[in-house]
Amino acid sequence: MPSQTCTRCGYVFEVNASRINHENCESCRARKVQKVNSCLPWHGMFAADLVTPIHDDGTPVIVGNRTCKRLDCVSPAHIEEG
Ligand SMILES: [Zn+2]
Ligand SMILES: [Zn+2]
Repeated sequence: MPSQTCTRCGYVFEVNASRINHENCESCRARKVQKVNSCLPWHGMFAADLVTPIHDDGTPVIVGNRTCKRLDCVSPAHIEEG
């Protein structure tokens, strides 16, 4: 099955042929993300610690240090990986 990288959060998801034009993963498509001070607050589910944004399958959205200090921010520009 072909895979696609979400243009919003970087999540790699599988697509079938009839849905191949989607640019965003299901989590991003299901919830309109509104920009706040250039941050991208996560509107999806959170991990057991209540602050780590996760996808519906439990995969962390982006792991790293949020330079903007917003724990729910999923803007790649605000996250230092590692
Ligand atoms: Zn996404
Ligand atoms: Zn941010």
